[in-house]
Amino acid sequence: MSAQIIDGKAFAAALRGRIALQVASFRDAAARAPGLAVVLVGEDPASAVYVRNKGKATLAAGMASFEYRLPADAEQADVLALVQTLNADPAVDGILVQLPLPPQIDERVVLMAIDPDKDVDGFHPVNAGRLATGLYGFVPCTPLGCVMLLKEQLGDLAGLEAVIIGRSNIVGKPLAQLLIGENCTVTVAHSKTRDLSTIVKRADIVVAAVGRAAMIRGEWIKPGATVIDVGINRTEDGLVGDVDFNGAASVAGAITPVPGGVGPMTIACLLRNTLVSAYRRAGLKLDMATL
Ligand code: NDP
Repeated sequence: MSAQIIDGKAFAAALRGRIALQVASFRDAAARAPGLAVVLVGEDPASAVYVRNKGKATLAAGMASFEYRLPADAEQADVLALVQTLNADPAVDGILVQLPLPPQIDERVVLMAIDPDKDVDGFHPVNAGRLATGLYGFVPCTPLGCVMLLKEQLGDLAGLEAVIIGRSNIVGKPLAQLLIGENCTVTVAHSKTRDLSTIVKRADIVVAAVGRAAMIRGEWIKPGATVIDVGINRTEDGLVGDVDFNGAASVAGAITPVPGGVGPMTIACLLRNTLVSAYRRAGLKLDMATL
C-alpha cells in the first residue's frame, strides 16, 4: 500500500472539539444551548442507530437534543404538523427528518415543509438553490465533510480534475456544486455514463457515492490521485465502501477508509450546521475560521 490514509474519524473528532468551544461561547452569549430536533418515523433499525448517534453527538457538543418518534403508520399530516411545531419553536435551531420515510409519506413534501433557515440537512430546494447560485445557505453534511477532508489533505483545490460517481440530491449533486465553488473541473458520472474507467482515470480527485461494494477498481485510479469513498455497503465481510480499497490504496496518493473516513464527518458537519444556525438566529457573529 502506498496511499496515505485520510483519517476522517480523527478529523471529525477535532472538528467536534472546535464546535464544542463555540457552543460554550454561544451558551454564554445567548443564555441557551443550540438545539437540534431529530424526527424518526417508524422503526427502521439502521435509521434508529443513526438517530441515536446524532442525539449522543449533539449532547456531547453541549447542544440540546430533541428527539421525536412517530409510529411507522403515522400519516403525512402528523409529520407535517410536527415539523410546523418545530419550525415555530424558538429553542430549535436545526430540524432533521431521518430518511427514508415510510411509503405513505411523500419525502419531498416533508422536506419542503421544513423552514429553510432551520434546514441543517440542506435538503430543502431553497438551500439547494442557494448552493447552486453561490448564496449563503445550509450545505448537505456529507458533501461538506468530503470537501473539508479534501482541503485538509490537498490545500487549494483550484484547477484539479474531480470525478464524482453518483448524482443524488444528497451527495453527488451538492458535492459537484461545492467543488465547482472550489474551482475544480468537475465531471459527474452515473449509471448511464459510458466508459467510466477512462473518466475516473483522468481524475486528481475521485469521489465514489454509488452504493455498490468495491465497484471502483484500483486500476481505474490515476497514480497519486485522492480518493474519497462515500459508499457504505453491508457485506459478508462487514462494512465496505464503493472503492476496492486495497487495489486503490496501492496507486492512490491518499484514500479514505470505510468505516472511519467520510461517515464520521457527516455527523460533525450536522453539528456545525446547527451551530451556524443558532448563531444566525440569535443575531450573533460566528467566526467561521475557528471551525
Ligand atoms: P443513491 O442511490 O441516491 O444514488 C446512487 C448514485 O449512483 C445514482 O446517481 C446512480 O445513478 C449511481 N449509480 C448506480 N449504479 C451505478 C453504476 N453502475 N455506475 C455509475 N453510477 C452508478 O445513493 P446516495 O447518494 O444516497 O448514497 C450513495 C452511497 O453513499 C450509499 O452507499 C450510501 O449508503 C452512502 N452514503 C454515505 C453517507 C455517509 O455519511 N458516509 C451519507 C449518505 C450516503 P443514476 O442517477 O443514474 O441512478
